[in-house]
Amino acid sequence: MTWRIPLADVDVSDEEIVAVTTVLKSRWLTMGAVTQEFEEAFKEYSGAKFALAVTNATTGLHMGCLAADLKPGDEVVLPSLTFVATANAVCYTGAVPIFAEICGENDLNIDPKSIEEKITPRTRAIMVVHYGGYACNMPEIMRIAEEHDLTVIEDAAHASGSFLDSRMLGTWGNVGCYSFFSNKNMTTGEGGMVVTNDEEIYKKMSLIRSHGMTSLTWDRHRGHAWSYDVVDLGYNYRIDEMRAAVGLAQLRKLDAFNQKRRLITQMYIDLLHDCCPEVKIPFEHHPGISACHLFVILLPENVERSGFMEKMKSAGIQTSIHYPLIHKFSYYQKDPLVASQSLPLTESIANREVTLPLYPGLTENDVNYIVQSIKEALRL
Ligand SMILES: *Cc1c(COP(=O)(O)O)cnc(C)c1O
Repeated sequence: MTWRIPLADVDVSDEEIVAVTTVLKSRWLTMGAVTQEFEEAFKEYSGAKFALAVTNATTGLHMGCLAADLKPGDEVVLPSLTFVATANAVCYTGAVPIFAEICGENDLNIDPKSIEEKITPRTRAIMVVHYGGYACNMPEIMRIAEEHDLTVIEDAAHASGSFLDSRMLGTWGNVGCYSFFSNKNMTTGEGGMVVTNDEEIYKKMSLIRSHGMTSLTWDRHRGHAWSYDVVDLGYNYRIDEMRAAVGLAQLRKLDAFNQKRRLITQMYIDLLHDCCPEVKIPFEHHPGISACHLFVILLPENVERSGFMEKMKSAGIQTSIHYPLIHKFSYYQKDPLVASQSLPLTESIANREVTLPLYPGLTENDVNYIVQSIKEALRL
């Protein structure tokens, strides 16, 4: 169906088209000079010491888990209210996901108190997710990690251009992963970036990204090497030059995109206060500067969510749920260690969550129409 207002929309223009055709004409298509330039630009933007462009954020998270040396039986504490990739990356290593609660209605991020309660002698890492681009309580989470000697991996898929205390999210922990999937704040179609400030982790992840090989095709092409050794079990998690070129163009526009998202978010908040005071708005007074990846509301407890979303659909407005909880998925329930975990707070809040359309091209008229439609859907 064609929506009057879709949930998300991409913003690509001639810049990206020219960038891609320039790469194609150059006849060097795999990871090379443009990828290096993209990594340099992202390092500069994020303030991280090291950056690696990758296939997507999921492989980036997997690289982070491997760099943290996660092994079968190790435990990783993470939220359940996130995209399944967050937990899948942990499971690829054989480690066990241990789900912690979110903070509450005003903050859908992982609760540091709950993290502490879930730590056992087997815990090796904490994986946090900056939901919608809103910062987790990183000072407190880093304190806990230090106290228990844990690695912190940040799923910063929503957080390209999110800051807390002037420090970009994804650069607080040991490893941070950004997604450039097509509905994210900046896109390369499929793609991602992994950052770290730790040289050892960087070296490890560089090997993992390309088959554990000590030299790359690009090095050999430039005459820097003619053979290689394989020193680790690696993967092919490389990006290509076309995507890197799109990423460079998108990164230049990221601040402008995010600024529009912030303005639209404020518009939603003001209108909802006036028209639908019964609707709860998480992260309304949240610390830091969000990239405003998602705009989410919590419905009043007596409102049936699927009926509400159906009415929005009739108005031509696409809504979504972020997220169906990971620990409830059938695959995860098969594991008795996961099936025994219960998250009463996360479950009760997640059931009321609805995601509204948010993208830089959304107009004031659109937001007005969406809020009026919410008002009507709640009245009926
Ligand atoms: C999109 C997303 C991912 C996965 O990113 P890909 O680049 O599609 O692999 C991981 N975690 C969260 C929270 C996401 O939203």
